[in-house]
Amino acid sequence: MTVQEKAGDKYVYDFAEGNKELKDLLGGKGANLAEMTNLGLPVPPGFTITTEACQAYLATGREPDGLAGQIETHLEALERGMGRRLGDPQDPLLVSVRSGARFSMPGMMETVLNVGLNDRSVEGLARQASSADPDSSGSADRFAWDSYRRLIQMFGKTVCEVPGEQFEHALDEAKRAKGTHDDLDLDADDLRGLVETYKKIFAGHTGREFPQEPREQLDLAIRAVFASWNAERAILYRRQERIPADLGTAVNVVAMVFGNLGPDSGTGVAFTRDPGSGAQGIYGDYLANAQGEDVVAGIRNTVPLQELERLDPKSYRELLDIMARLEGHYRDLCDIEFTIERGKLWMLQTRVGKRTAAAAFVIAGQLVDEGLIDLDEALHRVNGAQLAQLMFPRFQLDHDFAPVARGIGASPGAASGAVVFTSARAVELAAEGRSVILVRRETNPDDLNGMIAAQGILTSRGGKTSHAAVVARGMGKTCVSGADGIEVDVPAKRFTVGGHTVAEGDVVSIDGTTGKVYLGEVPVMPSEVVQYFEGSLDPAHVDNALVRAVHRIMTHADGRRRLAVRTNADTGPDAARARRFGAEGIGLCRTEHMFLGDRRELVERLILAATDAERTDALAALLPLQRQDFVGIFREMAGLPVTVRLIDPPLHEFLPPLEQLAVNVAVAQERGEDVAKEEALLAAVRRMHEENPMLGLRGVRLGLVIPGLFAMQVRAIAEAAVAVTRDGGTACPEIMVPLVGAVQELETVRAEAEKIIAEVVGDSGVEVLIGTMIEVPRAALTAGQIAEAAQFFSFGTNDLTQMGWGFSRDDVEGAFFWRYLELGIFGISPFESIDRDGVGRLIRIAAEEGRAARPGLKLGVCGEHGGDPDSVHFFHEVGLDYVSCSPFRVPIARLEAGRAAIETAGSDSR
Ligand code: ADP
Ligand code: MG
Ligand code: MG
Repeated sequence: MTVQEKAGDKYVYDFAEGNKELKDLLGGKGANLAEMTNLGLPVPPGFTITTEACQAYLATGREPDGLAGQIETHLEALERGMGRRLGDPQDPLLVSVRSGARFSMPGMMETVLNVGLNDRSVEGLARQASSADPDSSGSADRFAWDSYRRLIQMFGKTVCEVPGEQFEHALDEAKRAKGTHDDLDLDADDLRGLVETYKKIFAGHTGREFPQEPREQLDLAIRAVFASWNAERAILYRRQERIPADLGTAVNVVAMVFGNLGPDSGTGVAFTRDPGSGAQGIYGDYLANAQGEDVVAGIRNTVPLQELERLDPKSYRELLDIMARLEGHYRDLCDIEFTIERGKLWMLQTRVGKRTAAAAFVIAGQLVDEGLIDLDEALHRVNGAQLAQLMFPRFQLDHDFAPVARGIGASPGAASGAVVFTSARAVELAAEGRSVILVRRETNPDDLNGMIAAQGILTSRGGKTSHAAVVARGMGKTCVSGADGIEVDVPAKRFTVGGHTVAEGDVVSIDGTTGKVYLGEVPVMPSEVVQYFEGSLDPAHVDNALVRAVHRIMTHADGRRRLAVRTNADTGPDAARARRFGAEGIGLCRTEHMFLGDRRELVERLILAATDAERTDALAALLPLQRQDFVGIFREMAGLPVTVRLIDPPLHEFLPPLEQLAVNVAVAQERGEDVAKEEALLAAVRRMHEENPMLGLRGVRLGLVIPGLFAMQVRAIAEAAVAVTRDGGTACPEIMVPLVGAVQELETVRAEAEKIIAEVVGDSGVEVLIGTMIEVPRAALTAGQIAEAAQFFSFGTNDLTQMGWGFSRDDVEGAFFWRYLELGIFGISPFESIDRDGVGRLIRIAAEEGRAARPGLKLGVCGEHGGDPDSVHFFHEVGLDYVSCSPFRVPIARLEAGRAAIETAGSDSR
């Protein structure tokens, strides 16, 4: 978007002119300050400079025409309303300058308080404070100088990039000189001295004196907020979170109110309900005689908000009233920031508050009970990522376990184990059956084996997109990254943290959801939500607010969704579990698992068959075994559709690795044993070796090359279906041909299959569908032709992603995905969430052209994307009939399919 300046553009809005819907223009903070103002709540007066002004500034490097004048006009109105002038030496109006974008963003400039103070107005401020309360003349001086030193500190740090520690050191020094730890013990003279020191720090770093002109302070602060939109950290954050780079930030200029005027003043933050559990009540912190930033900075110890009832009952009651009004108005949990100036309450911020996954469900349920929202809205307010979090086992922390360090929850789960520092040691200990936690400063591709062997991964560096985080998420392994309280010493095989030394073999516990690290083994508790899904917790009979809320919202989602949800399952027990989780069929039953274990020998016979007769024998021996597998699954799924994929992987995957065979042969020869069979296997493995097995002889290609292989599988499926039906059951098999790229491949397989099916099924009434996977880009692009021969399509999004991007999944995730994520080339791995623009486009084309050729063509997706929240929304949008995912993801897919349905319904009616 290019920003055009037009004469007459409105860049500044009084709080009375805005409202909460104007977040794009006024930012979240400004829009909500306006909303509270218009609700008649006590908000200090002020105005908001729009994101458009910021965009114009960033595009041209200067303030847009008209902005200075509009600020002047609004400032004058503010001065008139307050009866004071900005920085007036006798009785100064002071303001805060606060950034506030559409999305809150780390790396953005924050807040400068007390703008308007200088060497003269600080005296005026002190006189005014003491005349308002003559008993407090000593403390009035203190207050004024405290405010001034805060201005220089915040202005220096955020506007002029003076390193913040320098100010903090000077403050510590002043406290030390006074023999105290509490900044309240510093008196006016101490603070006056501190201001002198601060000014020297400021001048030393910026090469100029601290600006004394109030309007210059204001303009510099506003410009710094604008510029902070393009701070390096903010840019990086936006790339990763896919926040558009051109939104810009708004700037709020707010008349100061003072929480540091004495013991009857103070400042605090609060939530309208517990953001941890969702329980109703008052949750907050209060700090007497302080300015806002102190609460967050943790400079002094806060007291629980309930204390305010004793300290200032009138303000306390007013605050409770306001919180109730805000909840009723926003129909949600709100968080607020407030200040009390000499017994008068002021509201400084509100927004719909962040919450934990459990609280999200519980609160949504409560708000329905309270009549504030309906079930659609409740469903809209929770999501699959939250549900997924609730399905991991958790640490049972009711004992005295305190975390020793905290990093980033990079891959959820709870893991305990012996600490190891190298990949090799991880593999060794795991082989002894021990649970291990791999601890590294940062992992790299060499650590891959150790990561596979470990129960969890802990690093002291790196964020959510570090190598450790990306690979762990791909593997579904618990990971805490960037726990920078930990000092890892790999050569010494130990790490230190907060005075503890942890050596190799010592046990630690890591929580990949919260990022917390504990010494020793913390007991793990199963997830109540999983127990509910498995049927062992009945929501009607347990007193568990979370289980009841989950039950209610899931039931609603099921009623709303259009997408069916199936599961990927290869065995009867898997299928049974998935059904309890709500699966409505099997979308992917992989037959290759049925070739493993004690059946390997038959597969070897098949591969080594030198004559048609030998091959036919081997297949005939496999047939009854396969049939038995299918009977088990069809029974379990009792009439629900079961999509069976004909064998997909390259056959050499069923043979021992080349090196192992070569050694066996050599050893046996040495001993003079008969090695004919080993030699034949070795020769077969050498012959079948492929440079790129994923692109080699597999899927339909195998079926066309090895006579009788697919025919045996088709026969086993049809016979199993007939057997189940004859026993009074129902079986609905759907035979799926993998890796088809051309309609001719499918036609050939289908002609043979139909003959066998007709012969087996006879007049049993069993119906067997034949369809194909769409997982080769060419298949997607020729879907119109392929649909002529297919009764259904199932999108194999893993292969479609591999082949669409040209990525070999096993190689790329560890090799460079972390870098791509860091650079923002991906917001998320395309194996985790469907790449809508590329791979998604292939799906869209295939769905449209397939349906055009064969109206009513059944469309589904199998592969982990089927259980990824964002991807489910995409599959709903393109009109698929079902998604299929692993059993554990079935509830997540159900929930998101329900959300997708109400969101489309909502946008249609709007
Ligand atoms: P953040 O986005 O980091 O929370 P804010 O702009 O909300 O930054 O400012 C931080 C704190 O500064 C607020 O919570 C409030 O306590 C204090 N503050 C901001 N503006 C004012 C004001 N006009 N008067 C008094 N305190 C203020
Ligand atoms: Mg704030
Ligand atoms: Mg595939």
